[in-house]
Parts: sequence; C-alpha cells; structure tokens
Amino acid sequence: MPDIINILPDSVANQIAAGEVVDRPASAVKELLENALDAGATKIQLIVKDAGRTLIQVIDNGCGMSDCDARLCFERHATSKIHKADDLFAIHTMGFRGEALASIAAIAQVELKSKMHDSELGTQVVIEGSDIKEQCSCSCSNGTSIAVKNLFYNVPARRNFLKKDSIELSHIEEIFRRVALINYNIDYTFHHNGKLLYDLHGGNFMERIAQMYGQNYQERFYPVNESTDVVKVYGFVSKPEYARKSRGEQYLFVNHRFIKHPALNAAVEKAYTDLIPDHYYPSYFLHLEVDPSRIDINIHPTKTEVKFIDESALFTIVRAATKRALGQFGLATELEFNPIQEVDFPPAPKGYVPQQPQVHYNPDYDPFKSSSKAGMGNIVTSQPRGGQWTSFFDLKKEDTAPEPTQQTTLTEMQTENKVPPSQPQPCLQLMGSYIVSTMPSGLLVIDQQAAHERIIYDRLMSHESNAAAQQLLFPVNCQFSPADADIFSELIPDLQKQGFEIGALGQTTFVVSATPAEIKDSELQQLFDQILTEYKGIMMQKFSDRRQCLCRSLARQMSVKAGTLLQQAEMQQLIADLFCCPIPHVSPSGKKTMAIIPPEKLLN
Ligand code: ADP
Ligand code: MG
Repeated sequence: MPDIINILPDSVANQIAAGEVVDRPASAVKELLENALDAGATKIQLIVKDAGRTLIQVIDNGCGMSDCDARLCFERHATSKIHKADDLFAIHTMGFRGEALASIAAIAQVELKSKMHDSELGTQVVIEGSDIKEQCSCSCSNGTSIAVKNLFYNVPARRNFLKKDSIELSHIEEIFRRVALINYNIDYTFHHNGKLLYDLHGGNFMERIAQMYGQNYQERFYPVNESTDVVKVYGFVSKPEYARKSRGEQYLFVNHRFIKHPALNAAVEKAYTDLIPDHYYPSYFLHLEVDPSRIDINIHPTKTEVKFIDESALFTIVRAATKRALGQFGLATELEFNPIQEVDFPPAPKGYVPQQPQVHYNPDYDPFKSSSKAGMGNIVTSQPRGGQWTSFFDLKKEDTAPEPTQQTTLTEMQTENKVPPSQPQPCLQLMGSYIVSTMPSGLLVIDQQAAHERIIYDRLMSHESNAAAQQLLFPVNCQFSPADADIFSELIPDLQKQGFEIGALGQTTFVVSATPAEIKDSELQQLFDQILTEYKGIMMQKFSDRRQCLCRSLARQMSVKAGTLLQQAEMQQLIADLFCCPIPHVSPSGKKTMAIIPPEKLLN
C-alpha cells in the first residue's frame, strides 16, 4: 500500500487555524485591536466598511515593526511575546500564540504599513492568501496600520455564513466595547462606512463607561474597590434599582482582558440576592487584577475563557466586594444622613476646659417593660438597636442637661450653634400604607409594608430574635398534607432558630409549644400554610438558601400590612429601625421601601 500521509502546506494549515481564531469579522477586529495594545499604542483608530466584509483597518501609534518583523509576523507561531514555555505562565500581553496575523493573512488580502519610532522610513507588506505579494519601504507615521480587505475572499463557505451587516456590525461593536472599556486610558476612534461611531478620549474607568453609555451612567453605579493577596477587584456595580430584565452590561475583565466566567458572574449576581426582584439582573463593569501565574488563559484560542487556580477564593471575594459596595454606598449616598461636614463646631472659647465624657444611664430602665403596640401587632418590640425612639429622646434630654458648672460644655456650644438635633420627625400616614416624613435632604416617603419586611428580615437573619420566644399556654396542633409535612420538617430547625418550638406528632401533625413574641397562636396554622406556599414558590426560583427563603417568607407574613393604621410613635420607630438596616432602600423581595424627594423636585 502506498504512503498516504501528506504534510499540509502552510497556507492550508493557516486556513484551518483561521477557522478557530477568525470566525467572523469581529474576531479579526479583536486580534488587531489587541496587537495594537500590546504594541503600547496610546491612540487607536478602527475603520470598518460593510460590517468588516470589505475592510477592517486598525491604525495605532505603538512601537511599530522592523522590516524583518513586518514580514515575519505573518508566519505561524511568529510572536514577540513569548520565548520559552515558562513565559506562558507570566503573560501580561493580549497575544502570545503568534497565530492571529498568520490566520488573517490566510483568508484575506492584507496590507501592512509599519514604522518604528527611531526609523526614517517604514515598511509596507502586501500579503494575500498567505502569499507575500509585495514588500517595500514606504513613508508612513510611527506605529502600525493593518488593513484587512475582503475577509474570507478565498473561503466562500464561511463568507456565505456571515449574517447580515447589522448583526456583524453589532458583534464588532461589542468587541470594540470590551477592548475600549477596560483600556480606558487610551484614545479610540471607530468609523463605519465613513461615519464616526465612537470618539473616546483616555480617562478613568468611569469616564470611559460614561463616554460609551452616557453621562447618566455615573449615577447608576456604585464603585467597588477591594484588594486582597489573591486579587485586586475594582470597578462598578449597578444600584439595585437599575437592575434589568435581561443580562445587559455585565462586563468582567481579568488583567485588562474581557473574560467569560459563569461562576464569577454568578458571584456578582449572588450579592444582589434579596435586593432585586427575581428575573432581574444587575449591570457591572469589574476588573480583576490577578497574578498571571495563577490563571490559565490558554484554554481557548480566542482567550475569552480562563481558568483560575484560586477560583473559590475569587468567588467569595468578588461576591463580598460587590455586597460591600451595595451596602456601604447604598446607605451613604441615598440617605445623606446629616453629612458630617455640615457639623461645624465653633472654636473653643477662652477658658474652656474639656470635660471627660461620661456615660449616663437610667438605673430603673427595664427594656422588657416596654409598652405594647397595637397597630404593628407588637412586631418591633424586640429590636434592641433603636428601642423606643421617642422615650429614648426624652430620656436623653434629661440626662444630657448641662451640669450646673461655670465651664462651657461642648453640648452648650452645639446648642448655641444650632446644630440640628437628630430627633425623630413628625410623620403622617397616607392611605393607610405610606409614611411621609422629612429628612435633611427632602421629603421622605416610606412604603410601610416593604420597609417592615426589610426590618424583620434583617432581624431574623441576624439571629436576634431567639430571645423573643414565648411559651404558649396551650400548645397548638398544625396539620399538613404529607408532601407539605415533609417540607415543613425541613424547615423546623430554622423555625426553631426564630423562636418557634415545634415537635412532630405523627407523620403530618406538629405541635407548637412556643412562638416568637410577635406571633398570635390563633393564626399559626394559617401562618405556616402561607409560609409553605411562599417558601415553595421562592425555592422554585433562584434562591437555594433555605434559611434565606424562610426568613423572607416569615418577614412577609409578619410584616405590618398595607392598610394598617399606625400610631405616631410606631411610624417613627419604623423609620428608625429601617435606617438601622445595612440596605434600607429595598425590601428582601426587591421592592422599593422608600423615596426621598428633594425640595427642588417637589413642585416641578
Ligand atoms: P501574537 O499577538 O500572539 O504574538 P499575532 O499574530 O497577533 O501573534 O502577531 C504576531 C507578532 O506581530 C506579534 O507578536 C508582534 O510582535 C507583531 N505585531 C502584530 N501587530 C503589531 C502591531 N500593531 N504593532 C507592533 N507589532 C505588531
Ligand atoms: Mg496578537
């Protein structure tokens, strides 16, 4: 039998490789833009015609190439970025495979012009289907221009597979955005069919985002900034109220490279649990700086998929960083609680002797003697942070009365300077459902049910409620269908943490001997039925954490309902408690709890 194995000519091998690296115009754009970045360019122009079918040109002001390199760069495995296998583990550049230009030159007509900064003349190379047609000296500006004409001219099958121009252009735009977003210090222009689509000037990350998506993006995001031994995470995550029904702008970058990483994307989304409604998604632009030896970007030819050695640590850090940004800024920027700079202490008068701060307390105060609150169904009584706001302030007034002394105290100076006291403001209830009050920054409107849900949920999740359990005089039996009884058994340990005492009485009956103080024993069966229905619904959706589910549905059941009339003190208590929550502005199920209307918007 004759020998049948052939070594494929380079041009065919390159065409095959091209199938992996360049499957549509957008991938050629990506390779060219990345090469320009690797060449240290500070200005990059992208010029495209007919969605990349007839022309893709990238012009940069980077380091340029020597005559020899300008020819060699079209050879397969020709790269200046690695020299030995070890270099693969310390890659700081976008390219390293030395495949892109060889692949592009195999399936298009390419014209390269390049000049190094210290050379008088540049060099021009024309190559077509891997054949060098021409190389000569030319005069050109510093840097490199590569024009890719008639992509897939010799691969009709692939050309025929291209989608219509609008789709191919949108792919190119997406690639352009991915590159330009994270290389925000570089100037870019992008022309399509002679029309200027983007004209971007180097700046910081947020400036670039705003240049690309509009200035109003600045208000829609919170900054993230977290530095650990494993990774430095920085960027922006959207405020919960700007979550969308589809996964829109979700950009994750590693070492200045856009990546797809479902687990890390999930880490960001996970941080929004309880903050946005189900089936809504946050937007984010996050950059992870990781030691290159801790990642493998070699697993995919286009290098958008990467593997991390410290994947689980990264997951935790990314989620925590996002959560922290949401909590920290969510409170600080939305509420503008008496900003510190407004407090303007006068200089101490002559003769002022500072006093040792003293702790004043009322020895007769018994927190368990607080009076019952009818409207709220006694729900907020166990909140230790706020306590009774009104009585708290009365107590404080007495306690902080200046001691009869000749010396001027700081308290007196503050009173003289009319620093506004942080007292509870009068509240008004509207339509039995909304609480209206004032804040330094405007009119405050609160959805009482959503707000109360947030307060209870946070309390339940923080284990605080154990102390509030009360023994029932007559234990109550509750009964469920066999399927529901199974689910209910699963919930018992968590219910016990919340102050319930529950024992099994046969397969489908349970006896409840203690409940949290707020719960009426006559409504137990109804409460558990509702919890089960809710719990099943929530479990079917995105939540997998049992305790979160339970607390969410308990909070919903236990919250004061719309239509319940509230007393002045109860409303003030609710506002105080709400502002003690780390994330006060949305309920655990994602509903807005409050709006602050600034004075200038009131009559507009
Ligand atoms: P890789 O980027 O993986 O090294 P490419 O085929 O994309 O492979 O490029 C081959 C080589 O050509 C690069 O390593 C680089 O030395 C050179 N090169 C490509 N584009 C440019 C450019 N715009 N400016 C300077 N050098 C370039
Ligand atoms: Mg490259």
